Amino acid sequence: MTTRLYTHPIFLEHITPPGHPERPDRLRAIERVLDDEAFAALDRVKAPEGDEATILYAHPADFVARVRAAIPDEGIARIDADTTASPKSWQAVITAIGAANAAVDDVFTGRADNVFVAARPPGHHAEKTTAMGFCFFNTAAIAARYAQKKHGAERVAVVDWDVHHGNGTQDIFWDDPSVLYCSTHQMPLYPGTGAKNETGAGNIVNAPLAPQTGSEVFRDAFLSRVLPALDNFAPDLIIISAGFDAHHRDPLAEINLTEDDFDWATGQLMQRATRHSGNRLVSLLEGGYDLQGLAFSVAAHVGRLMKG
Ligand SMILES: [Zn+2]
Repeated sequence: MTTRLYTHPIFLEHITPPGHPERPDRLRAIERVLDDEAFAALDRVKAPEGDEATILYAHPADFVARVRAAIPDEGIARIDADTTASPKSWQAVITAIGAANAAVDDVFTGRADNVFVAARPPGHHAEKTTAMGFCFFNTAAIAARYAQKKHGAERVAVVDWDVHHGNGTQDIFWDDPSVLYCSTHQMPLYPGTGAKNETGAGNIVNAPLAPQTGSEVFRDAFLSRVLPALDNFAPDLIIISAGFDAHHRDPLAEINLTEDDFDWATGQLMQRATRHSGNRLVSLLEGGYDLQGLAFSVAAHVGRLMKG
């Protein structure tokens, strides 16, 4: 397996207020853990600058302009109750999108079997016309549409194991059966969506988990709901919205997974990528707010991507 890693120093320059959980130290913790010799074979590439026009694949132009206008020249500006922007946030957001789209290019051209994008801010809460939950634009949704437009993918699956429901991704693909969206997440929890009966055009599969759920129930939800949906859909590409806040150490939720669960789930999705998608798998960092839980989980995830 050739596994590529995209990251970029600009992702450290999206500054959030003191005490905010979505902070630059998250990426520093990931960088440190991936410095280990065990990851020497990673194909490390600096993320390219993104093409702003691709944001329009998932968001209307007036909304994009509104977000851009909200970026401050100095200090920190509030976009919603918990989403803030600093002067370099726009460049960070665009580069995160550029990295995700480049990852799609890589798996379709065979430069890599799979790719992990270590970027921030995250994206899965961003709806068509709403920035929220630390997210500006929906990077995973843009990358899915990019795969369809640039590489002729007919069916793209987005699998989201972040502990929060990806309301934004669900919103964007609600009536689009060419994209399958599968999510495991704690319920009740922010943002409040993600019930089983939210099924869109039959392309939305939600597997809500009760607080205090551990490995066994999580894996059962994956085996009984997510993986059968993937087999039935037979995607040309699998995108993972890889949040690691379902780790038991995470302060924002009450799901009790360990890094072994992320290793296991990664392996399951790789099997489906081999079966249906020519191994093509792109993983995008979403949440994960305990630095140690995040670092150990990313190490398990990327280690599995490299081993196959
Ligand atoms: Zn989350």
